[in-house]
Amino acid sequence: MVKNDIYTLYGLKHFEDKYKTLPSRTIIDNSINILNSSLRQILPDIQSNVFDCIGRVLSGHLEKYDKDLREKISREPFVDMAEQQIFNLILHESGERAIVSHSFWPYGKKFAVCLTHDVDEVKKTYQYLTFSLRYLKRRNLKAFRNQILSLFKKLGGKEPFWTFEEIMKLERELGVKSTFFFLNETAEVNLFDLKTWRHYGRRFDIRHEKIANLLKTLTSEGWEVGLHGSFFSFRDLDKLANELAILEEVIDGKVCGTRQHNLNLNIPETWRYHEKLGLFYDTTLGFNNCVGFRWGTSFPFYPLDSKLGRKLNLLEIPLVVEDIALFSYEKPWQEFLKMAERVERYGGVLTILWHHSVFNDLEFPRWGDTYKKMVRYCLNRDAWIATCCEIAKWWKKREKSKIEVKYLDSEILIQPLPKGEPHFLDIHTTNGAELEVKSGAEVVRRGEDRVTIFTTGEVKVRVVF
Ligand SMILES: [Zn+2]
Repeated sequence: MVKNDIYTLYGLKHFEDKYKTLPSRTIIDNSINILNSSLRQILPDIQSNVFDCIGRVLSGHLEKYDKDLREKISREPFVDMAEQQIFNLILHESGERAIVSHSFWPYGKKFAVCLTHDVDEVKKTYQYLTFSLRYLKRRNLKAFRNQILSLFKKLGGKEPFWTFEEIMKLERELGVKSTFFFLNETAEVNLFDLKTWRHYGRRFDIRHEKIANLLKTLTSEGWEVGLHGSFFSFRDLDKLANELAILEEVIDGKVCGTRQHNLNLNIPETWRYHEKLGLFYDTTLGFNNCVGFRWGTSFPFYPLDSKLGRKLNLLEIPLVVEDIALFSYEKPWQEFLKMAERVERYGGVLTILWHHSVFNDLEFPRWGDTYKKMVRYCLNRDAWIATCCEIAKWWKKREKSKIEVKYLDSEILIQPLPKGEPHFLDIHTTNGAELEVKSGAEVVRRGEDRVTIFTTGEVKVRVVF
């Protein structure tokens, strides 16, 4: 029998909200066995039941582990893996009966991709010195030479970090839109403290006409402008509130969500600030030294604030791939493929962070091309590519969608609620039966063991054995 502690209940509720179905009593009672041997090895200190494991991991349990172990564990989204296993058990239990569930993503797409750019600076400044020294130290003379070339270009009027038009052009050609998180840094700079230099180039005025015009162009053409909380804002609510107010004033609209600069997070305090400021989502939870699933999931989720004893009203969209981290691997493309394949397997969201500055091909050769290649790859794999706000809004909409299912002899009647709203549903079969949609819906994808339909009202499906 499963104990009713806060983590088990949260884990159960998390599963229920994600799959919109509650596991049967048999599955819950056997949930200790579902925690398979590989999970037991990964989490030696969680030995109770699978829902407790999910609940704990989605509340930050892994943060207690040392860096190497965390990086090793986060290669696989094992929360997604465990939940898929539970859902497969539900399908198995249903036997002959077809099961109707809510699609994770719209339009019959198998997984989602969220494209993001953190805008830390709009002008290159101190980096001429730090980058050049770094390349000299590594004896990378070509990169050092490119720094000099870039400086000459800048003196000739071409700002190396102003890459916005190139990104917009590229994304227009690819037919995708992304989220730009804008920083408004106010941290002090001390000439004698090297660590504070990084704030210098980042102290640009977001209200400057050129930048304000850029933000308006982005938002009016369908890109999203989000808040990139400044270096110390993760522990300073007033600072963050002020930055949010300025950004909303510049774009003359609401900001939907945020990512903290440097991925700084005080968990859960920073998220409480985000919730308090009415932000819809956060996408800070990731690594900047490796790729992977920091809390074992590629799905958006509401973190549990165990001290407050409730879920936060803030959707976390985990970050999976960051450019600098990806390029620290010997074979970046192979690493990307591993992550993309895992997200596709479990149907989650692949969140990519590609800094706008790396679209400067002279200083970051092939980084922009790699971005293009990643987007093309995901489009070919039939992913839904969206901004963070679109992902968050879809997830909220999906939460509100409900279904009533009636099983007749060889027919299923599905009544989605609210009526008149668009719903994407998956009908699963485990016994090879053919599904024939008789009325009320359009088939958007037909797979081996499931049919995905789009509907706004009552649907009649015939099951042919
Ligand atoms: Zn940043």
